[in-house]
Amino acid sequence: MNTKTPPRLSAEEQGRARTAASAARRARAELKSELAQGKVSFFTALWDPRPAIQRMKVTELLKGVPGVGQVRAAAIMERAGISDSRRIGGLGKHQLAALRKELSLSKIDSPKGALIVMSGPGGVGKSTITAALRHDPRFWVSISATTRAPRHNEKDGVDYFFLTEENFDRMVAAGEFLEWATFAGARYGTPKAPIDTWRDLGKHVLLEIEIEGARQVRQADPSALMVFISPPSWEELAARLQLRGTDTLERQAARLALAEAELAAASEFEHNLVNHQVEQVLEQLVSLATAR
Ligand code: 5GP
Repeated sequence: MNTKTPPRLSAEEQGRARTAASAARRARAELKSELAQGKVSFFTALWDPRPAIQRMKVTELLKGVPGVGQVRAAAIMERAGISDSRRIGGLGKHQLAALRKELSLSKIDSPKGALIVMSGPGGVGKSTITAALRHDPRFWVSISATTRAPRHNEKDGVDYFFLTEENFDRMVAAGEFLEWATFAGARYGTPKAPIDTWRDLGKHVLLEIEIEGARQVRQADPSALMVFISPPSWEELAARLQLRGTDTLERQAARLALAEAELAAASEFEHNLVNHQVEQVLEQLVSLATAR
């Protein structure tokens, strides 16, 4: 049994402790009010380095998230496997991940994500951009359906859903595509269903599609962010297309002609990003999506 009595504080020490405690209460109250007004998100608040915040109980902050409250906070903490007495500074990596999952699954704390349509000529670097965004938790990259054959490094369900002509027809007939178009002899389409789900969960959804499809999306959803990726110069694009793969001269000429036609559509897009550097384009895409 602990028989120790707490040390007696001098009047001066008591005064200092009282001041510190009221400063901490003020900091917490301010943060909770910013959270309630949607000025900061729950996850930003968790990274607030002030000791007063780091010592705050997770539940106390959580129940201040708009739409949560005491009962839901307790349920979320239980599902995430975090004890009620856990303080913000003591949250582990897995607990943070569990909270993130809980909050986005319950559609709280995340405004609806943007719909971004990205087009541009072949060889401009769209697939590098897409590959980077696939690893960015703020984005979800749509997986298209196509009737073309898989390339050697492509996986069904990852790069595309590779469909037979009959299955593609069935999806068209059932109205399951947001858009679809024919490109270089094959059909390509964007499955509609996952888009709303991911946007509701707060993810920015990216479609990397050709121009005809982009026009259809703009018609269907005028709030879509229309982004065209341009090369730094025509010469550079031509050089990249000629370097690509083992195309015959005839096929190279066809691809150059196609790229020229695609470039001509750039002015139809409200945002034109020049791909000098992929990192720069990625930053621009992120700020377009968040500023929306
Ligand atoms: P690839 O066969 O080289 O992967 O793609 C050829 C073209 O099809 C690219 O311009 C690409 O942006 C476009 N594309 C890929 N998926 C879709 C889609 O779902 N819809 C439309 N309209 N175009 C797509």
